[in-house]
Amino acid sequence: MDTFSNLIGGEWTEGPGITENINPSNTDDVIGRYAQGDAAQANAAIAAAKAAAPSWARTNVMVRHNILKAAAAEIFARAKELGDLLAREEGKTLAEGIGEAGRAGQIFDFFAGECLRLAGEKVPSIRPGVEIEITREPMGVVGMITPWNFPIAIPAWKIAPALCYGNTIVIKPAELVPGCAWALADILKRAGLPDGVLNLVMGKGSVVGEAILSSPDVDAVTFTGSVATGKHVAMKCAEHMRKVQLEMGGKNPLVILDDADLDIAVDCAVNGAFFSTGQRCTASSRLIVTEGIHDRFVEATIAKLQSLSVDDARKDGTHIGPVVDAKQLDTDMNYIEIGRGEDGARLAWGGERLNRATPGFYLQPALFTETSNDMRINREEIFGPVATVLRVKDYDEALAVANDTRFGLSSGICTTSLKYASHFKRNAEAGMVMVNLPTAGVDPHVPFGGRKGSSYGPREQGRYAAEFYTTVKTAYQLA
Ligand code: ADP
Repeated sequence: MDTFSNLIGGEWTEGPGITENINPSNTDDVIGRYAQGDAAQANAAIAAAKAAAPSWARTNVMVRHNILKAAAAEIFARAKELGDLLAREEGKTLAEGIGEAGRAGQIFDFFAGECLRLAGEKVPSIRPGVEIEITREPMGVVGMITPWNFPIAIPAWKIAPALCYGNTIVIKPAELVPGCAWALADILKRAGLPDGVLNLVMGKGSVVGEAILSSPDVDAVTFTGSVATGKHVAMKCAEHMRKVQLEMGGKNPLVILDDADLDIAVDCAVNGAFFSTGQRCTASSRLIVTEGIHDRFVEATIAKLQSLSVDDARKDGTHIGPVVDAKQLDTDMNYIEIGRGEDGARLAWGGERLNRATPGFYLQPALFTETSNDMRINREEIFGPVATVLRVKDYDEALAVANDTRFGLSSGICTTSLKYASHFKRNAEAGMVMVNLPTAGVDPHVPFGGRKGSSYGPREQGRYAAEFYTTVKTAYQLA
């Protein structure tokens, strides 16, 4: 079986430990053996990134462009194979995996272009004979801690802008999905990235992640993951007065009004709530439905759920793959029990553990109806294929319920009314708003991020990524 090492200072380096990457669709299938780094390896990676930073910051933009472009080209060429690896290690369907790999390619492509569009400003001073230049400079060494649910897209949307704007990197991917991050590191190394510019240290959050957070030589940290770990990351960064960017959870509402197109509403709900096994921070976990369409919507949604196949992620015809691991499955089952125990709530569909041909973490999507917004299943992020329906009187109540959450990542509405669509776009307390579209599923070239407890710090993706990956310099000169 193949063994995969960490990349430190341009050298593939075995870890002090090793871990098996397991397929959640078939726990007998071991994808590979991956290095598990320790604090010493993390520190060596940080030192390598620090040493490489000055020259990478000055690298000709055409060189950066060529490397990012070559990486994009290889990702596109290998999208099927990378998508298969992704589906095998994370459990989203093959089609979703290939789509995500393609998206990683698009992100590298976008930032390859951005390398050639870097610019500053020259402005007149209020003092005679003085010229002012405003420029952006790289942050330096960026620490990246990534989650398991988008194993290639999230590393890509942190690595590509970091490199474009001249930073060096130490990345620690989630323990469950080292394969895609390793593949990206390998692609970038072969694309000609100089030694030490990108360092990959796989391993535990409490060991490698903690070492990144504790190092005075890391200039900025970007994190995607849970709220609890995100808070810890922010506190550690405050200790070092270090720039930080956090993307965390969601409890995203999808409002369905009486005047909605029922087919669009059901598609948005089922896709948003259950595709990718509901394991997206942008998943529509609260379906807020007005009275006039409520019963028709619930009936049609259940009919659609009945037609979906939950099975091996890489099997033809699978709509929903397994839950990522035993721990997440326990969490999901636990919340389903909590929901069943709530006064009034009804488990209208699913929620059963499923057996398939191979041992895997299969769970039937669960839909609760007659829920209220104060129930735990409506307050806490579950991160699985579990959604609730909340019955509301009218648009005003729907909007109030949609915003009554400590999260604020993505908010959706299904309506044919221009008035309500426009009002919702202005008044939804979220970083992203979707009209007649699922709450999940975003473009790669525009800002991504949320409000309230969902995000902290500057936005990711598109040109807005520069806010995090650069620092502004204002230079004055007597001409
Ligand atoms: P999840 O529940 O989705 O695994 P986490 O927030 O625990 O979310 O994990 C997201 C990332 O944070 C992973 O790469 C994980 O290893 C890392 N992580 C977990 N704990 C820590 C920690 N104490 N310090 C730094 N990173 C951590």
